[in-house]
Amino acid sequence: MRAATVIPGKPGSSAVDELPDPSPKPGELLVEGLLAGVCSTDEDVVESEHGTSPAGRERMVLFHESLGRVSHAPAISGFREGDHVVGVVRRPDPRPCPACAAGQWDFCRNNEYTECGIRGLDGFGSQRWTVEPRFAVPVPHRLGELGVLTEPTSIVEKAWEQAEFVAKRSYFAPRRVLVTGAGPVGLLAALLGKQRELDVHVMDRVERGAKPDLVRELGAGYHTSLDELDFEPELVFEATGSGDVVFDVLRRTARNAITVLLGLSGGDHTTRIPAGAINDELVLDNDTVLGTVSANLRHYRGAVHALDAADRGWLNGLISRRVPLAEWQRALRAERDDVKVTVRLAD
Ligand SMILES: [Zn+2]
Ligand SMILES: [Zn+2]
Repeated sequence: MRAATVIPGKPGSSAVDELPDPSPKPGELLVEGLLAGVCSTDEDVVESEHGTSPAGRERMVLFHESLGRVSHAPAISGFREGDHVVGVVRRPDPRPCPACAAGQWDFCRNNEYTECGIRGLDGFGSQRWTVEPRFAVPVPHRLGELGVLTEPTSIVEKAWEQAEFVAKRSYFAPRRVLVTGAGPVGLLAALLGKQRELDVHVMDRVERGAKPDLVRELGAGYHTSLDELDFEPELVFEATGSGDVVFDVLRRTARNAITVLLGLSGGDHTTRIPAGAINDELVLDNDTVLGTVSANLRHYRGAVHALDAADRGWLNGLISRRVPLAEWQRALRAERDDVKVTVRLAD
């Protein structure tokens, strides 16, 4: 079979490799890869210092966003041949820490967790892969290729869940939500806000094209600057990873606001901030700022549910390209109007 591989930390090492077919260990599913989704983490693994190969190996199979079809399932696995599945990216550390032991590997305490296609485990960018049933998430057939959006949606599902946990600290009935960044994570955060029947506004720099169109089709407001906002958001999902946007938005929130940070800045950019004024605003407004990363099984299941409830045409608009495996590096080169780029794994 063929696979997209890379030597993490070695720019220029990306390849399409011929690898032996994987053989499932007892109890495991054998899966035929359909699509892999590409995100900025993959760019970091391919082009910079991010990522670690599986123990004892130089190369790693890339990609953590998956969709596959089960081709072999043990009788007691709960899966059947032909089922569509997505693999869970983060796996509990081997010790495990108390969080991992409780199934909350997204909150791993000792930093020894592994991640498929990122940290110590092969990803899903191969024509066949194996997975333990407990790390396989069933996706209904009716979602078709849209199932590849499950992993990025799980990130957003967790973000909404975390915000809703924090909201329970007081009376909180948010109406207006701001999402900063109209990439896949921002757009999916906006979708989940509309599914909760909230007034959703998205801010991104781009002035025209697929991103503003998708926001408007969702029935959300689109803005190219925070200065355009004529309201104070009660809930914010920050997906740009821009330090400037983060601190700007913290000064604009309503009382008792919750700001969820989802984006990585990845760099040592410095900026001048009015630190005292921001502190006073956070304290006097009872504001909360929280960061969130990764997802556990509950979030993947929630993500499948959210995708299933969404408009298929709109979701399809998020997938801007399907690049063949033989040319997968093309998927990492940004093109105009890209939202979510995918790699088609089948021949
Ligand atoms: Zn990703
Ligand atoms: Zn752990």
